[in-house]
Amino acid sequence: LPTIMWYRRDLRMSDHAALTAACKRGGPVIPVFIHDKLSDSLGAAPKWRLGLGVGALAKSLEDKGSRLILRRGDALEVLRELVAETGAGAVYWSRLYDPDSIKRDTAVKEALKDDGIEAKSFGGHLMFEPWTVETGTGGFYKVYTPFWNNVKSRDVPVPLSAPSDIPAPQSWPESEMLDDWQMGAAMDRGADVVRPFVQLGEASAQARLGHFMGHIVQDYKASRDIPGADGTSNLSENLSLGEITPHQCWHAGQRARHEGKQGAETFLKEVVWREFAYHLMHHTPRILTDNWREDWDAFPWNDDARSAEVWAWKKGRTGIPFVDAAMRELYVTGRMHNRGRMIVASYMTKHMMTHWRIGLDWFEHCLIDWDPASNAMGWQWSAGSGPDATPYFRVFNPVTQLDKFDKNRDYAGRWIAEGRANPHKDALAFFDAAPRHWGLSPDDPYPDPVVPVDQGRHRALDAYENREF
Ligand code: FAD
Repeated sequence: LPTIMWYRRDLRMSDHAALTAACKRGGPVIPVFIHDKLSDSLGAAPKWRLGLGVGALAKSLEDKGSRLILRRGDALEVLRELVAETGAGAVYWSRLYDPDSIKRDTAVKEALKDDGIEAKSFGGHLMFEPWTVETGTGGFYKVYTPFWNNVKSRDVPVPLSAPSDIPAPQSWPESEMLDDWQMGAAMDRGADVVRPFVQLGEASAQARLGHFMGHIVQDYKASRDIPGADGTSNLSENLSLGEITPHQCWHAGQRARHEGKQGAETFLKEVVWREFAYHLMHHTPRILTDNWREDWDAFPWNDDARSAEVWAWKKGRTGIPFVDAAMRELYVTGRMHNRGRMIVASYMTKHMMTHWRIGLDWFEHCLIDWDPASNAMGWQWSAGSGPDATPYFRVFNPVTQLDKFDKNRDYAGRWIAEGRANPHKDALAFFDAAPRHWGLSPDDPYPDPVVPVDQGRHRALDAYENREF
């Protein structure tokens, strides 16, 4: 009997436990992607990027003589229809860990089992299942370093190769057309702007990993902090949709470490930060929506998402070059350098005293590497409201940070056009991408700071010191 391979955020064929098991089960394999209310509710850029990823996977499957069946609707209803149409005896998928997916998948599993169908979920999105990492007293980790110490010597399964053959059914069930789903409809800055920065699909992800291990990892420890350099892997885009697995990154990192490449251990630690984010989300799903430290509920956040300051932040017009460069990078490329993320999040939550949730939502709207766990952890870490957070009194100074990490202004110069004789093409691309109603022009004078650095710092520290929380 056929097996339905239900694809979600695991858009690859190699190192794919569910697909491998489906092929081994015997009988035809029917890969399917269901556009349901969870994929439909994604932010603009993540949804658009998911659509591209689904298209790329469909093409790769076709190259192997298989197909990707596309259906829209409630996941359980669609799966039941497909079971009825194809006579499938099993449905396999790779596990996800956010609360909405867990709720959906648990209900699907129970219902299919009641129907007499083998319903089975597999690992792959993470190296260490969140419930398998425990402190000495059986709890979960709230601080990164002990988490790292716990997992760093574990055996990580060697990545599986792609199945050599994906058995096709005699006839394929009907499929919808990806274009009809219009997954890029909410891309207000225009998909064409961001498209050149996308590296799509499994083969590109592997090429990216190869390039990183060949040319970048050696100096990664220092280069990862320089936003104007090509000093990181950029793999987050592919990891977020499972076009590559953390296992593949881990083993490549271990090989580089054995070859004596300096930055390899730092890279392994970063990949484990992603695991840690999932660990936290699994054990405290409220990290996605609420202050992880509940005493922060009483902090006097500005939570007006339409305030002039918030708009200046989104438009990259705060008058603070590091913040503005990073916000423009986000808008044009769908990505932002990690140091930029820390700086813009710190400026928003501390200098602007604006609720981290507003920033988290904007990232979810804009990022092509959006990841629920890493985004929430990053924002709460920056705000000081999370576990393992930066202490509130440690307020990043975006001016001295720019001097330290962008000495020659490669980054600021790439993204800020105002006041420059020959602006960089990407700095100008931002103005083309920005909606007309933002009223921006590269000929405008560069703005004064919406919140001056020292003043913002003192205001935030006063609020913190006089806290009644
Ligand atoms: P590299 O430096 O090459 O690191 C390799 C991999 O390690 C990354 O691809 C990523 O999977 C993981 N990693 C690295 N740093 C972190 C980190 N701090 N937390 C979790 N995982 C990490 N990352 C996302 O993938 N999606 C998000 O939506 C996201 N939102 C963030 C929001 C804020 C406010 C902050 C401060 C960080 C956020 N991050 C997010 C984490 C980090 O900025 C990105 O993972 C990193 O910039 C991706 O670039 P890279 O692939 O070149 O990373």
